[in-house]
Amino acid sequence: MYQMTELQKKIQGAMPDLLLKMEEPLCNHTSFKIGGPAEVMAFPSTVEELQKLLRWAKAEEIVPVVLGAGTNVLAPDEGLRGLIVCTKGALMGLTQEDDTSVTVMSGVSMARAAGFAADLGLSGLEFAHGIPGSVGGGLYMNAGAYGGEMKQVAEKTVFMDLEGNLHVAEGEQQDFSYRHSAFTGKPGVIVSGTFRLTPKPAEEIWDTMRVLMGKRKASQPLDMPSAGSTFKRPVGGYAAALIEQAGLKGFQVGGAAVSQKHAGFVRGAVASRQKIIDDCVVLCLNAGSDSGVGDKIADLHLRKLPDSRFLAALQNAGFQIVAQGARGQSGHSGYLFDSIHLHSSLEISGL
Ligand SMILES: Cc1cc2nc3c(=O)[nH]c(=O)nc-3n(C[C@H](O)[C@H](O)[C@H](O)COP(=O)(O)OP(=O)(O)OC[C@H]3O[C@@H](n4cnc5c(N)ncnc54)[C@H](O)[C@@H]3O)c2cc1C
Repeated sequence: MYQMTELQKKIQGAMPDLLLKMEEPLCNHTSFKIGGPAEVMAFPSTVEELQKLLRWAKAEEIVPVVLGAGTNVLAPDEGLRGLIVCTKGALMGLTQEDDTSVTVMSGVSMARAAGFAADLGLSGLEFAHGIPGSVGGGLYMNAGAYGGEMKQVAEKTVFMDLEGNLHVAEGEQQDFSYRHSAFTGKPGVIVSGTFRLTPKPAEEIWDTMRVLMGKRKASQPLDMPSAGSTFKRPVGGYAAALIEQAGLKGFQVGGAAVSQKHAGFVRGAVASRQKIIDDCVVLCLNAGSDSGVGDKIADLHLRKLPDSRFLAALQNAGFQIVAQGARGQSGHSGYLFDSIHLHSSLEISGL
């Protein structure tokens, strides 16, 4: 018989009206379809509910992990203990502010935000239409595609710290750069974003979005579980080109493989496990090292890493971890690392 943990009993007693899921499989909330049970997953549907939750967690000395649409994370097979605050489908709402701006809550999908703006005849979010994450996740890492990025249109971001205080970051305070923002690695939750857009006929905007989606479908393995591009773009090059140059297109480890369609994607198969994806990423780096383009490949930034076990495995495999932006906290397994700069001096064998 299932026994509730202390945390589960406490949070249910303290917030009976909040939507909570206990021992919820993370694989149901990640695009890799990977991840064991989360002890408590909370879905706050208003800013007030989020505030109450974060203040309660603070008083209990619990540091929550934040999850958006789960399209840029690799969750641990063994699951996560503690509190996961999930915004997707929870913190919802879209508002037109004035003739050229809209405010979107963080749990709204990028596709929905782009469609909302298009229907209002407002251009600027077309690039975001095919990115499968939430607006909160997009602002968090300055998501971008096809020459567009959040930086170009995000006027203002509202952020709640772990004490439940709201902060407004405007313009340059958002500190956007390539797949990074002022909120990357900062403890707290992005609540909403306000976007400054440009009037344009709605049909033209939808046409552009259809063209971009067509390009995406033609070049990306959208039918397979993945988290999109696995590696950040190295300076002056493209990760996919380097991986292809290293002869790794189609390279497989267990159920994981470097996509034939897009070498920048490491994709899983149904029922892959985190460890297999890890292995595939590590072996990509290793094989790159072996083939002469390794220095460049080793300079890539891994965008999504699971936990401290993986770091240990990398270190054991001969990687020196040069810099690390960790977002995991003690009490959790160190999940959701933002960027790790790897340097390898490996002689590879055994592939
Ligand atoms: C098929 C596919 C294609 C993709 N194509 C692109 C692309 O073209 N361009 C691109 O940039 N990315 C792409 N991605 C990656 C991903 O969709 C984006 O990075 C997206 O912005 C992640 O948002 P998310 O809501 O899924 O974040 P999650 O994966 O849930 O979380 C990622 C990080 O953001 C943090 N986070 C999420 N929401 C919040 C919040 N509200 N407050 C604070 N922190 C938060 C999490 O804690 C975590 O550290 C693709 C992914 C897939 C699967």
